[in-house]
Amino acid sequence: MKEARFYKKNENDFVTCTACQWQCKIAPGAVGICGTRQNHQGILLSLVYGNAAAVHLDPIEKKPFYHFRPGSNALSIGTLGCNFGCDFCQNWDISQLSKEMQHKLQKKNNLKDLGIEVTKYGYDMSPMQIIEYCMQSDFDCIAYTYNEPTIFAEYALDTAKLAKQKGIKNVFVSNGYMTNEVIEEMSDCIDAANIDIKSFSDKFYRKHCKANLEPVLENIKTLYEKGIWVELVTLLIPGENDSSSELKKIADFIANISVDIPWFVTAFHPDYKLLDKPMTSGDSLSKAYDIGKKAGLHYVYSKNSWKNENFNTYCYNCDELLVERDYVEVRVHESLDINKGICKKCGSKIAGVWK
Ligand code: SF4
Repeated sequence: MKEARFYKKNENDFVTCTACQWQCKIAPGAVGICGTRQNHQGILLSLVYGNAAAVHLDPIEKKPFYHFRPGSNALSIGTLGCNFGCDFCQNWDISQLSKEMQHKLQKKNNLKDLGIEVTKYGYDMSPMQIIEYCMQSDFDCIAYTYNEPTIFAEYALDTAKLAKQKGIKNVFVSNGYMTNEVIEEMSDCIDAANIDIKSFSDKFYRKHCKANLEPVLENIKTLYEKGIWVELVTLLIPGENDSSSELKKIADFIANISVDIPWFVTAFHPDYKLLDKPMTSGDSLSKAYDIGKKAGLHYVYSKNSWKNENFNTYCYNCDELLVERDYVEVRVHESLDINKGICKKCGSKIAGVWK
């Protein structure tokens, strides 16, 4: 637990959190939408600072990043809480837990104990301890992931700044709802961001995520313009966001920023509250893949289905196989010059961070 950095003080001990686009106005004693930022007598506390709810070493491909140091690993860290309320969340057990704790304590009129409850969960790990752990274990990349890193922006960015000093890379896996203030700090120390485009419909965002679409689209553009390496993911939920017209809008939006941004279309599996939808079919993934390629995107990948996997990276110009992937292995072929980021066969620039 620590005083937040992204907030403003208002009259009568009210505060405005400026970490994400909700910009919650929080009364003394109350908590923001994410369930992890509480106003304590006019001071905004990040209840999850220094408290990691999940810590694992994951392949970078799992985040997923396919054009960022393929075959490497990232020490992956998340906390409790989220600023979205996605009814299909696959990590709901941690992302929604602080809100459940908050509601239980509110019923008992005991919200002041939320910080104690939140910090009982997980591991005490200060930014410096995370860096020491990385140095001892030879880990050279940290992913802020599992839940939304924006809600623990101070914890993530303090860690990332220390990591950068030691030559350790940093990546965000995010819903893209941060403020410009957070993006400004990210641009100093975050090397790559994987952002969800959950749909191209504001109605979908409101219905399924309890959020809005527009800030996400704006932030994707801003992150890209700031020079952070960006990859994007759309989870295809049958009947909800997988129509050809909607997928075309997403693909066109990405192509308008850059055809070099990788786009993942991934398969939905019923989870959390959205249990009445079927799994995404292989045909639907293929359709999305084709739509992305037709829009001119150089790199479209499909994942999480037994069929129709498009794992490999090919040169967009001459079709040479550059990076070969299956469920366990990643092989960077000789045909990719990782120093120059070019296809050796035809000399085309292959966008990404290759080493
Ligand atoms: S990070 Fe949490 S408290 Fe801050 S604005 Fe977003 S939802 Fe509200």
